[in-house]
Amino acid sequence: MACRFNCRNLALRRDLNIAMKINLLVAIVFWTIATIQSAYAKVIPPLLPKSILNMPATKAIKLPGIDRLVFVDEPIYPGSNFTWKEATKGGSRIPVDTMFDGRLYSAAEIVQNIIDFARDLDDIRAQFGNRPITLSSWYRTPAANRAARGRPKSLHLIGMAGDIRISGISPPKVYARLAPTWLGGLGNNTAYTHIDKRDRLGWTSGRWVY
Ligand SMILES: [Zn+2]
Repeated sequence: MACRFNCRNLALRRDLNIAMKINLLVAIVFWTIATIQSAYAKVIPPLLPKSILNMPATKAIKLPGIDRLVFVDEPIYPGSNFTWKEATKGGSRIPVDTMFDGRLYSAAEIVQNIIDFARDLDDIRAQFGNRPITLSSWYRTPAANRAARGRPKSLHLIGMAGDIRISGISPPKVYARLAPTWLGGLGNNTAYTHIDKRDRLGWTSGRWVY
């Protein structure tokens, strides 16, 4: 239609009309996508499990002798039930070179000891019917050992000791069940069981009560 009067107004109305139609179209498209998405989520499980989606970003640490960063939630070796978080108290105790019983243990060697100790813990876990094991103490830096009033020759200092609790079994019972076969040291306590690998140092196996 030719425009002779008030042409600007007419053009404005036409533009507004188009804009409203576009808005409506956009609203319909979004509503359709939202509807399909919610229906989709009910029928098909999400591509990633919720546990992964909800996982908080975990801390990464540099461990001596390991040439990449490791996340504290990573298993200590593939398939292990134990993580670096447990061995390093949440990533706060990174192994350091340590004088122990007259010899220097390098930080990288202590990291290897932690890996070996995780294998022993997994064996114990299997031995006790795969009950979860929690550790109140594992590796200790010299400073952490002093703070915990650990002995100067505590095997926690070289990653070869852990204070464990096995879910549903009292620490004295854990001690009693391990005592006949465990080659290293065992400390009995009502709150936890200390286990260590003193046999690997050639020390005679120890049994004691705290
Ligand atoms: Zn201990």
